[in-house]
Amino acid sequence: MQDFLDQLPTLAKDKHNENKKFFSKLKKKQPKRFDITMQQLHDEEFAETDCLTCANCCKTTGPLFTDKDIERIAKYMKMKPYDFEQKYLRKDEEGDMVLQETPCRFLASDNYCLIYDVRPKACREYPHTDRKKFHQIAHLTMHNVAICPAAFRIVEKMKMLFQGG
Ligand code: SF4
Ligand code: SF4
Repeated sequence: MQDFLDQLPTLAKDKHNENKKFFSKLKKKQPKRFDITMQQLHDEEFAETDCLTCANCCKTTGPLFTDKDIERIAKYMKMKPYDFEQKYLRKDEEGDMVLQETPCRFLASDNYCLIYDVRPKACREYPHTDRKKFHQIAHLTMHNVAICPAAFRIVEKMKMLFQGG
């Protein structure tokens, strides 16, 4: 897995123009049964991908924390939401609450998440490849294919399926 993770930024860069073209066509017209097919691709990929051997998302990028996330996680950690924010979070340029640092401080050395049951919504949904109307998050996906091997493979399979290779 580590070899593939090391190569991923270069692979994603090589595919960037192709992906950009593909997503721009997809935005204009979605294939029939698009959401269902995406859900299948996602399920097939994650049946084979073991996130515990990867954790690249937790190591290199952080989720946004909504107010609800902060309240839930702070409660779990028996902290006041304000104290949790002060200790772990910062406001980014867009005003969103994000981690102060990466790798995420809740990532254990065996790649388990220490707050798994109450983790942020963005962590539960990452890499968003089972999201309905997936074409609407093309920009985010083109970023994620450089981080997430599963997202990279899903996009490669999408291209094969929807543009015949
Ligand atoms: S909260 Fe858990 S799932 Fe989310 S980035 Fe941190 S370690 Fe990963
Ligand atoms: S979601 Fe993607 S980047 Fe995160 S651990 Fe799983 S395969 Fe790796």
